Amino acid sequence: MTESNRGIVFLDRDGTLNVEVNRLCSPDRLELIPRAGEAVRRLNHAGFLAVLVTNQSIIARGECSEARLEEIHDRLKKLLAEEGASLDAIYYCPHHPDPDPDPDPESDAAIARFKIQCDCRKPGTGMIKRALADFSLVSSDAWMIGDTTVDLKTAQNAGIRSILVHTGYAGTDRRWTVQPDHEFSDLYEAVEFVISS
Ligand SMILES: [Zn+2]
Repeated sequence: MTESNRGIVFLDRDGTLNVEVNRLCSPDRLELIPRAGEAVRRLNHAGFLAVLVTNQSIIARGECSEARLEEIHDRLKKLLAEEGASLDAIYYCPHHPDPDPDPDPESDAAIARFKIQCDCRKPGTGMIKRALADFSLVSSDAWMIGDTTVDLKTAQNAGIRSILVHTGYAGTDRRWTVQPDHEFSDLYEAVEFVISS
């Protein structure tokens, strides 16, 4: 496991690291936001852990398999590697509690285990807590960078510092009333701030 001497930065995926695409389920559609690869490389070199935390309820909705999600994350890792950057870990929540509006007995059996009320779906803190435990870190070591109020609420719930980026939804999703600790135009600017803090 990678050693961190500066702390851990949790990164949202869609709209923060890669261009927001509604219900992304094809590796070909994944595209990094400008300077996002460079931002992750800066974190790597500055001694921060860069850890992805993403809600992927498309698994529970039967719109994307876990194997396909792996392919998407493989492409993400490849695109980052081309920029000399890497993620230290990827955590995703495949769950969603809502009943299927369009039941299909055949596929439903395969995804039934994902249709639960979990503690990892952001703004739940399950993924954050697991990562902090996995890397033997505490909440004061951590930052959360994301483009939605869900990310900000997650950070608030976990007691970690939050940064809103103005890419993706840029905080306009209005699902939670919560203020970020800091705001920057994109991941690169956010990372510059974290590194200089
Ligand atoms: Zn979950």
